[in-house]
Amino acid sequence: MTPIRIDQATKVFVLTGAGISAESGIATFRDQNGLWEQHRVEDVASPEGWDRDAETVWRFYSQRRAQALQCKPNAAHVALARLEEFLGDNLFLCTQNVDALHEGGGSKRVVHMHGELFRSRCENDECEQPSFVDTKLYESAAHIGRCSACASRVRPDIVWFGEMPMHMLNIKRALRDCDLFVTIGSSGAVYPAAGFVNEIAYRRSNGETPKSVYVGLERPENASRFGECRIGKAGEIVPGLFDLV
Ligand code: NAD
Repeated sequence: MTPIRIDQATKVFVLTGAGISAESGIATFRDQNGLWEQHRVEDVASPEGWDRDAETVWRFYSQRRAQALQCKPNAAHVALARLEEFLGDNLFLCTQNVDALHEGGGSKRVVHMHGELFRSRCENDECEQPSFVDTKLYESAAHIGRCSACASRVRPDIVWFGEMPMHMLNIKRALRDCDLFVTIGSSGAVYPAAGFVNEIAYRRSNGETPKSVYVGLERPENASRFGECRIGKAGEIVPGLFDLV
């Protein structure tokens, strides 16, 4: 596959999904029976699940924290960190992943639109206490922390289904500005991220010339919106994806 030529003035938007972390040993979201690590998504990744059973939610994210600590960034994460060294602010790296493998691979400016596994925050949306770094493992309801300002429960700083993704204004601006949009390892089923490529298609229909490329194990649900799909493992394709001139 021919590498994509970019120079230091090229504005590149990279969106990553669970597939980029699969070769590092973190399970993707969809397995064969539609469960996420043996849990129903509604039970562990929704505000309703949290209201019903916060202990189960915290046990789930504690397991994810413990598992993520065992995982190392792979060649795709490292390649994107190199791309950032070359492009600086002209790379907008947006991830749906809550793991810290991009940072582990050396990336410095990662936009986590779905939050971060190793941060927690107050469950009360009106409370102004900021989110904080949290590596604790919570084993029972008795371990769930309380906010120091309002005494509400501490919850994972993760965007659950039905909640508003983070950083959307900056994301929209970067989508409008980029010359190249690349998605890596995302099924194209979770919105709004699955719709980002539509902005590129819309700009092309208006006479602009941004390119779009998908990289992943199989064609995503939104494949028809991309200019090109490169099928294979992220760790094998991404290191040779760009020709930096
Ligand atoms: P998804 O699980 O829906 O899709 C993953 C995609 O990656 C699939 O299309 C699959 O074919 C592809 N894939 C699998 N192995 C790959 C590899 N080695 N190389 C390239 N592609 C590969 O993931 P999604 O679209 O990111 O949506 C899932 C949601 O679940 C997101 O909101 C995310 O926040 C969350 N999630 C995050 C993590 C994480 O932080 N690592 C893990 C699981 C789920």
